Amino acid sequence: MSNPPTGRSPAMRVPLLDLKPQYRALEAEIQAAIRRVCDSQAFILGPAVRELEASVAQYCQCRFGIGVSSGTDALLVALMALEIGAGDVVITTPYTFFATAGTIARTGARPAFCDIDPVTFNISPAAVRAFIETECERSDGKLVHRATGGHVKALMPVHLYGQVADMDALMALAREYGLRVIEDAAQAIGAADANGKRACSFGDIGCLSFFPTKNLGAFGDAGMCVTNDAALAERLDILRVHGGKPKYYHAFIGGNFRIDELQAAVLNVKLPHLDDWSAARQRNAAFYDAAFARAGLGDRVRTPKALPGVRHIYNQYVIRVERRDELRQYLAGAGVGTEIYYPIPLHLQQCFAYLGHKAGDFPEAERAAQETLALPIYPELSEAQLQYVVDSIADFYRR
Ligand SMILES: *Cc1c(COP(=O)(O)O)cnc(C)c1O
Repeated sequence: MSNPPTGRSPAMRVPLLDLKPQYRALEAEIQAAIRRVCDSQAFILGPAVRELEASVAQYCQCRFGIGVSSGTDALLVALMALEIGAGDVVITTPYTFFATAGTIARTGARPAFCDIDPVTFNISPAAVRAFIETECERSDGKLVHRATGGHVKALMPVHLYGQVADMDALMALAREYGLRVIEDAAQAIGAADANGKRACSFGDIGCLSFFPTKNLGAFGDAGMCVTNDAALAERLDILRVHGGKPKYYHAFIGGNFRIDELQAAVLNVKLPHLDDWSAARQRNAAFYDAAFARAGLGDRVRTPKALPGVRHIYNQYVIRVERRDELRQYLAGAGVGTEIYYPIPLHLQQCFAYLGHKAGDFPEAERAAQETLALPIYPELSEAQLQYVVDSIADFYRR
C-alpha cells in the first residue's frame, strides 16, 4: 500500500472544483441581477425565468424551455408529462447519478437497466437491443416486458460526463419499438454529436440540471426541461404548478416544481459565458491528454475518449486507472481533489434490490465503478496545476 507523502504539506493544492474564481469575475453583474429581483419582490416565474427559458431552449436547439426546481425534478416532471407510472418500464443505464433511476422508480415505474459502452460510459444501443429482443415482446402494438408484464414506454439515456450518448442508434430503436425518449442531459448542456446536434434536441424531452457543479451552475438547486413539442411544453408548464390550469382547476396531479426567479437571474448572467467555460474545460482536457501521453504510464492510466467530431463539454474528466482507491488516497495527500462517479452501479444499490440483480449482471458498469476517477477539470485551472495533477499520478505509479 503506497502512502501519501507525509510530514510536509503538499507543493500545490488542486481542488476538484473551485467556484470562487468564476464568481469573482462576474460578481458585480450577478449582484446587480439579484438586486433587481429583490427590488421587484417578484420571486415566482417572473421575467428572469422567461428570459432564461427562451435562451436555454435556443442554446439546446429546442423551441421550449420549462424552468424547474432541479435536474431531478426535471426528470420527474418529464416522466409525469409522458404519463409514465405504475406498471410501466423505462430503459436506462445503471452507471449514472442516482436521480436517473430514482425518478423512474418514484413514478411507480420500473427501471430496466442496460449495460454501458466501455469507451463512452454511455448506455450501449446493442445492450438495449439485446434487452428488447430477449426480454420483451410485442403485444397489442405495445412493447411488453415479459417477466413483469410491464409496458416498456420509454428510454432514458444519460449523456454522461458531458458526451452525448449514441443518439442515432438509440432514436432508431425508439422509433422501431414506439418508445418515448427522455434525455438526462444534466451533465451535458451544449454537448453535441458529430453533426452538431445538441443534447436535448434528439428525444421528446431533454432534462438539464443547474446544480452548482454542472457546467452552468446556479446558486443552489435549479433545472430545466426543454422540448420541441408544443403539447408537451404546455403539459410540463402546467405540471410544475401542481397541474392546475387555470389556477385552482386541476385536470391532472402535478407538483411544485418551479425554478426560483433568483436562480434564473443568476443563470441569465452566466449563460453568455458558458461557451468560454466549456472551451476552457476542453483545453484542460487536451492538456491532460497530452501530459498523460508524455508521462508514459501505459495502461495504468487510460484517458477519456471523445468520439471523432463530437462536442464533449467535459463536465467531468474521468480516467480509468489501476489501484484506483490507493491512487485517490495518495492524491488527497498530495493536495489533489478527486471523486468517484460512481462507486456503486445502480443495479447493486440496496434500494433497487427488489429488481433482483446481482453482481455480474452489467459487467461494464461494474468495471467502470471500480476503475474510474474524476480529476479537476474546471475552467480556471492553471497549466501548472494540471501538470501537477499528472506528475502526482506519475509519482504514485513510479513509487
Ligand atoms: C446532477 C445530475 C442529476 C440531478 O440533478 P440535480 O439538479 O442535482 O437534481 C441527474 N442526472 C445526472 C446524470 C446528474 O449528473
